[in-house]
Amino acid sequence: MIERTLAIIKPDATGRHQSGAILQRYEQAGLVPVAMKLVRLTKAQAEGFYYIHKQRPFFDSLCSFMSSGPIVVIALEGEQAIKRHRDLMGATDPAKAAEGSLRKAFGTHIEHNAVHGSDSSETAQFELAYFFNALELPQP
Ligand code: ADP
Ligand code: MG
Repeated sequence: MIERTLAIIKPDATGRHQSGAILQRYEQAGLVPVAMKLVRLTKAQAEGFYYIHKQRPFFDSLCSFMSSGPIVVIALEGEQAIKRHRDLMGATDPAKAAEGSLRKAFGTHIEHNAVHGSDSSETAQFELAYFFNALELPQP
């Protein structure tokens, strides 16, 4: 099944000028960008994106981090894109992420883990709509 998922290149990775290298990894994996932009979130916008985590102890720090610099948001399309993208990203903590994964290669800390990816079709729908309107990302 062809799916779409939301990828984010986080402020730690954009700050190290790794966006191009990460985009190349998506393309090499057959995850095709179908919409993309560079944005800078306010803290309130980051809180809206991560509302699901609002009870977690790391919520405030995570939202400060995610609004600390530019991010690249990308709609990726491909066969089983959601799971294949999560596999490519690796575990949340870069120290535990598999060899060859994006977080192993580009992450430095459980919070500063370089990339985000939707974890289900429901969250993908919410997250894609958070960043892209119908003009930017038309229905497939
Ligand atoms: P994932 O991004 O792998 O789906 P979560 O949804 O659990 O992970 O968490 C969202 C983001 O919050 C993570 O990508 C990471 O940046 C941050 N985070 C998760 N767990 C922690 C933690 N224990 N301490 C600090 N930041 C965390
Ligand atoms: Mg998650």
